Amino acid sequence: MDIEDDDWVVVHKETNEGENDGQKVDDDFASQIDEFIEVLQACLWPLNTFIHGNPELAFKEYKAHKVLTDFMRSRQDWQVSTSAYGMETAWVAVYDSGAAGPVVSFNVEMDALPDIGHACGHNLIAMASLAAGLATVEMVTRHKLPGKVFLFGTPGEEGMDGGKIRLLNAGAYESVDISMISHPGILNNSPLVRTTAFSVLDVEYFGHAAHAAKSPWLGINALDALIIAYNAVSVLRQQTMPTDVIGMRITNGGAASNIIHVYAAGVCVLRAATASRLKELQQKVSDCFRAGAQATGARVDIKVTDGYADHVPNRILASSYTKYWNMLPDVPNPPIPTEGQFTWIQSSTDQGNISYAMPSVNASFAIPPGRKGGQPHSIDFEEASGTEGAFLRSMRVGKALAGTAVDVLKTPGLMKTIKEQWRRDIDAAEA
Ligand SMILES: [Zn+2]
Ligand SMILES: [Zn+2]
Repeated sequence: MDIEDDDWVVVHKETNEGENDGQKVDDDFASQIDEFIEVLQACLWPLNTFIHGNPELAFKEYKAHKVLTDFMRSRQDWQVSTSAYGMETAWVAVYDSGAAGPVVSFNVEMDALPDIGHACGHNLIAMASLAAGLATVEMVTRHKLPGKVFLFGTPGEEGMDGGKIRLLNAGAYESVDISMISHPGILNNSPLVRTTAFSVLDVEYFGHAAHAAKSPWLGINALDALIIAYNAVSVLRQQTMPTDVIGMRITNGGAASNIIHVYAAGVCVLRAATASRLKELQQKVSDCFRAGAQATGARVDIKVTDGYADHVPNRILASSYTKYWNMLPDVPNPPIPTEGQFTWIQSSTDQGNISYAMPSVNASFAIPPGRKGGQPHSIDFEEASGTEGAFLRSMRVGKALAGTAVDVLKTPGLMKTIKEQWRRDIDAAEA
């Protein structure tokens, strides 16, 4: 989706000599990163195959944790912490150049889905981030760049209890300036990705029992309250925004057919384009729930559980990513959209919460589709995410992410510009 009314920073291309020198330096970095990862990928391919072939559920990524931290320990000059921040399968690897400078980071996802394995392709996310982290450090050592590079092994993305949120709350990102990650699909190549915010509302109604045949007028029917609320939510949908999504189901519709129901319950999942819009939507849906209570006299209890925040992408980091993506040979289809155009993904990630804490990139990349062209969370995509073609796309993503990190480390003042843009974006999202 195109969000047109955003205020854009227009960067004019200048054609003086300094600019041409800059172009040449970037070209040079792009080809060095390219060559480095072309060699590295022989070490990463077996890791990718192992993780894809051994899918593990959220917070139980024991095998992935082991092979990834063993691998990082085998690399020079990385400090690796296993089972970090109170999570068995979280890990951190840090490289310190020894010179003060920006601190860049990449998140390494590991978890799979129940029954359908790596149908979200998190093995590819892990490989892209590993390649990016290692290539960044290679450039830092070769060119004596300042700063630090972090790799975070981030468990449990699938679900509502994101490992990145736990890491954020535990202070893991305290010294970190920017966070980068990617996600495979079959449709988009884009570093400027927005995702939805979501939350879950549990509603319960407490009525009053009475004999349904002899004295129903003495009762309060909790199911009636819930049905009124359900219908009120259905009516509300006409006045919601195109990016709002309300899903609802009845989880308890009473105990028997011939009684006045003393208890009824439902669950509502809400999605919205921004965290602030999600709050508004929660308010409106809660009002519908209260309407059911008001109409029947039942008591209502509403519990809100925060899911993931929307992802606010950083356009300056995205611009670096696009530059390197397009410098690398054999640019795949589809091309990255023109500068400044958002890609709107109707799903949620805990990288969204990270994006409210620091400038973030969550780059989408298209892998060769499976036979049925299945999207993430399908069996077809599980197959597609284990192929060599998919792996090679993740390597390209790793190269573009490394280029982005190198830009941040080598360009004095760029970090400040990125953070100023981030502040404006977050202020706009929270307005
Ligand atoms: Zn997923
Ligand atoms: Zn995913």
